[in-house]
Amino acid sequence: MRVGIVDALPYGGTGALRGCDPKKILRRGAEVIDTARLMRRKGITDYGVSIDWSALMRHKRGFTDAVPQGMEDELTGNGVTTLRGNARFTGPNQLKIDGTQHRAKCFLEPSRFSCRRFVGGVTGRCAVSLSM
Ligand SMILES: Cc1cc2nc3c(=O)[nH]c(=O)nc-3n(C[C@H](O)[C@H](O)[C@H](O)COP(=O)(O)OP(=O)(O)OC[C@H]3O[C@@H](n4cnc5c(N)ncnc54)[C@H](O)[C@@H]3O)c2cc1C
Repeated sequence: MRVGIVDALPYGGTGALRGCDPKKILRRGAEVIDTARLMRRKGITDYGVSIDWSALMRHKRGFTDAVPQGMEDELTGNGVTTLRGNARFTGPNQLKIDGTQHRAKCFLEPSRFSCRRFVGGVTGRCAVSLSM
């Protein structure tokens, strides 16, 4: 393996699967109800306007369900080995993923705002800064 990536959860991250994107879809439903209520007796009759939670969640899943597989396909298509499990550093050049040791010359811990690099036990800032 030359490049590998690990996630304890399905690939896609918080933004695409649990945060930003699904939040916007669910919030839109609430906005529609709120707007209709605000306009009550101002030209809009809001009787019967309500949230069908199951249907709204189905709509949301229409966006989120395909993300993990799509992301894994893209990663593997680019030659990246995808691993799943909880990663824990156990030494300068090694980490354990659910009980299995992995060694590497360099580890990157990307986050939305920065990317930390661990090489031979030295933690330093990477030259790159990842953004979504
Ligand atoms: C409800 C909600 C709504 C949001 N809405 C917005 C918005 O509208 N706009 C906005 O800008 N931001 C929003 N955010 C924030 C945004 O989602 C996060 O800032 C962003 O996802 C952070 O990205 P990240 O790559 O740092 O972390 P994440 O996307 O959380 O990815 C980190 C990944 O690392 C994995 N991981 C962590 N530790 C380990 C480990 N030891 N071993 C293996 N895997 C591990 C996790 O499973 C996770 O998949 C929202 C967040 C939430 C919760």
